[in-house]
Amino acid sequence: MKNSRRQFMILSAAGACTLALNGKVQAQAMVAETDPQAAALGYKSDASKVDKAKFAKYAPPQACGNCALYQGAAGSAAGGCALFAGKQVSSKGWCSAYAKKA
Ligand code: SF4
Repeated sequence: MKNSRRQFMILSAAGACTLALNGKVQAQAMVAETDPQAAALGYKSDASKVDKAKFAKYAPPQACGNCALYQGAAGSAAGGCALFAGKQVSSKGWCSAYAKKA
C-alpha cells in the first residue's frame, strides 16, 4: 500500500513535469517562412521584407502584433496565431490573412 502511494506520487510529479515541458516546447516553436501554409500566405517574420509587388494590400504599420488573429500579449515579441496552431509568429511579422485588430 505504501509503495503504491509512493509510486503514484512519483508518477504524478513526472506527469506534471512532462506537461510543463511540453507547454514550453510548444511555446517556443516558431512558424518558419518555408512552412507550406506560411509560404502560401506570404508570411514573413519581418513585415518590412514582405513582397509588396505580390501582396499589394500590405502597408506599414501592419504586423502580427496588431492583427486580430494574433494571440500574444500586447508588447510581446512573439505569440500564437489562430492560423498556426501550436506555433508562434513574430509580432513584427505579417501574412496576407492580416486583419486589423479592432
Ligand atoms: S494572420 Fe495575423 S497574426 Fe497570423 S501570421 Fe497573419 S498577420 Fe500574423
